[in-house]
Amino acid sequence: PPAGGDRLTDGLNPEQREAVEYRGPALLIVAGAGSGKTRVLTHRIASLIQSREAWPSQILAITFTNKAAAEMRERVEALLGEAAGGMWISTFHSACVRILRREAESLGLSSTFTIYDSADTRTVLKRIIKELDADTMGFTPASAQAKISRLKNELADVETYARNANTNDPNEVMFVEIFRQYTRRLREASALDFDDLIAETVYLFRAFPKVASLYQRRFRHILVDEYQDTNHAQYALIRELTQSIPADRVHEMEGHGVNVAALTDASGGIPGASLTVVGDSDQSIYAFRGADIRNIVEFERDFPGAKVVLLEQNYRSTQNILSAANAVISNNFDRKDKKLWTAVGDGELITGYTGYTAHDEAQFVADEIESLHRAGIAYRDIAVFYRTNAQTRALEEIFVRSALPYRVVGGTKFYERAEIKDAMAYLISVANPLDELALRRILNTPKRGIGPATETALASFAEQNGISFREAMRNADALGLGPKVTGAILALARVLDEAAAMLVPSSRGVAEGTNEGAKPVSDVLVFLLESSGLIDALRNSRDPQDETRAENVEELVAQTRDFDRENPGATLVDFLTQVSLVAAADEIDDASGTVSLMTLHTAKGLEYHAVFLTGLEEGLLPHQMSASEPGGPAEERRLFYVGITRARKRLFLSLAMSRAQFGEVAVAMPSRYLQEIPEGLIDWRQSPGMATSRGGTQPRALNARRPGGAWGTRDRDLEKFSVLKSAAPKAEWANRVTGTVRDNGDLTLEAGDRIRHVDFGEGRVTQVTGEGTKRIAHVAFDTAGQKKLLIKIAPIEKL
Ligand code: ATP
Ligand code: MG
Repeated sequence: PPAGGDRLTDGLNPEQREAVEYRGPALLIVAGAGSGKTRVLTHRIASLIQSREAWPSQILAITFTNKAAAEMRERVEALLGEAAGGMWISTFHSACVRILRREAESLGLSSTFTIYDSADTRTVLKRIIKELDADTMGFTPASAQAKISRLKNELADVETYARNANTNDPNEVMFVEIFRQYTRRLREASALDFDDLIAETVYLFRAFPKVASLYQRRFRHILVDEYQDTNHAQYALIRELTQSIPADRVHEMEGHGVNVAALTDASGGIPGASLTVVGDSDQSIYAFRGADIRNIVEFERDFPGAKVVLLEQNYRSTQNILSAANAVISNNFDRKDKKLWTAVGDGELITGYTGYTAHDEAQFVADEIESLHRAGIAYRDIAVFYRTNAQTRALEEIFVRSALPYRVVGGTKFYERAEIKDAMAYLISVANPLDELALRRILNTPKRGIGPATETALASFAEQNGISFREAMRNADALGLGPKVTGAILALARVLDEAAAMLVPSSRGVAEGTNEGAKPVSDVLVFLLESSGLIDALRNSRDPQDETRAENVEELVAQTRDFDRENPGATLVDFLTQVSLVAAADEIDDASGTVSLMTLHTAKGLEYHAVFLTGLEEGLLPHQMSASEPGGPAEERRLFYVGITRARKRLFLSLAMSRAQFGEVAVAMPSRYLQEIPEGLIDWRQSPGMATSRGGTQPRALNARRPGGAWGTRDRDLEKFSVLKSAAPKAEWANRVTGTVRDNGDLTLEAGDRIRHVDFGEGRVTQVTGEGTKRIAHVAFDTAGQKKLLIKIAPIEKL
């Protein structure tokens, strides 16, 4: 063995070591959060390579994000002390794109196929639904998209689905038609949506055993992280890749320059690749995307003889944080109980906080971040999580005001901006001339006098003549349109053709199969932006927003320059692929000294010194939408568990007593999950200035006199939240969390009244608006300025 051969298992506990060293066809590592699952995978890969049991090129490791993939590669190479080229460490989607681009021909696809994101899919569906008048039946692009996605994740293609559809149900007949049209249009555009990437690869392997065996032979060790979040299609893909190759098919592979003999067993066949999966069923949070927890539960049945390793020691968090996580997750039924423990000690108590409003809550978060920072914790080691993107508003407002450096991870994404999509559509149109969606997007962007009627004329001309939209554009003069419009279309077609010519490699490049001689992506983009007039239109516009848009487009140019520099010889399609596959979590930049704000879903697999879980209210967590669905509350609890277990040393749990949603201020109730955490673990603080507790850690319950309490389910205003009816936290619990539960429901205020507010002092009511429980007092405070208060819950009294 090479020098330092046992370095790989140094610093691992016995179970981790066993998982790294086990050799056999199938290995399942199940363990709770922070127990070193990802670390074990990394060490296992390094160990396989270092011991010469595998070449790097025989390894396929699947991670949940591209960022996780990059990290894993770095760590493997650090462990080995050398680069390990040829190793595939990527997400399911990236691996499939790579395979599909190589094998596109077998599927009748262009290898430059476009990848449609969610917004593209909805645009296509919107058109189809409109043409079929399906909106009158209640179909929306989002509903059709969700259903199609679910079917694809189950590997149900449109014709199989159609055969089993109930032809007496007009809704189902219509859906089949939508699905059919959608499938046809993507095919014509040589486009695949995100779900297709997986499903088509499975189909490829099943339909073309020869192609499949190339990959089955190549990948001898397949390792999957976050296995609990694989869906059926991904599971099927793993099954395909780990198939053995029977002896009578082995000879097909001779002559591919591979020493097949080294792989065959006694039967003359090639055994299936060894499979290692790691996961935690308590962290399965993607059921809505078809993730199937059964994949992990049934692993032992599907892979008989599989070795199972359990890890129980957590290396990430303090005992207090772990105890909270254990207590919460133990409320889920239907799970194997596992107890995580840690050797790092209790650590500090969890801090709880109930704000009066979302802004108040945000101020608490900002203040605590500042004091952590003063205590030496780097901003980049602090994260704030929430359930929905809308919650960032209050946080951002306060952070900006407090001059806190922060970054919203996966919020409004750069590539989703309209002007970036426009510029990208130019590039896509050049790379994939069949992509009608992209072409139609740029047809009149910037404005060149090509209206919807002309667009339709081009589309039907293409349809009638059996040619592509692009071809129709080239023949625009045959359409009998006005000379100006015709000229505009022809000019655009010419710009695209010229750009395409820039991408052709030199004859030497062609001969050697390289991209030599092709112009870099940034040159092509600049040419397109300038000759199409797009950038000038933005720069010369009087709309001040266009200035920002122009800057964004320039930022895109800068990104293509970086891409060209970092990936010499890469093609336009490589660039487009990279952009398509950027997942939300990939935008996290550890080097930047900023606080990260992200949704709980994005937080998976990450860890921070300090974590803030905000908006812990009924309706947000559990989310209103999931609360009434079967399995919904259990999945939301897992989400909470994921959030808690991201914290190493400090955990902050916060909520607000009232929250503006959909333009209305509503009374918020503490999340049911909060009461699952043992009391002694949380140090509850309150809104500054609110009735404070008597020196202890427990806030005072102010509502003891009123049976049922202000948070009681009898409140008519709250009944619209059906979730609350089923599982409203007990009133006394709610009192304890919020400290100041009050019900001023019968307090009559009118303009001119003087009041006193716990935070803001005395003031004069200037106006009362709203009805019943939603009455709002507009108050001019003597020192605190103008405020609007929800009378029902405001900590106020009439003077
Ligand atoms: P999650 O379920 O959240 O994905 P995980 O099980 O993948 O967590 P890792 O991220 O691999 O856990 O490990 C959690 C932390 O513990 C990391 O910082 C890792 O470096 C550290 N760690 C894991 N095992 C050990 C060990 N044996 N000694 C020291 N630190 C360890
Ligand atoms: Mg992990």
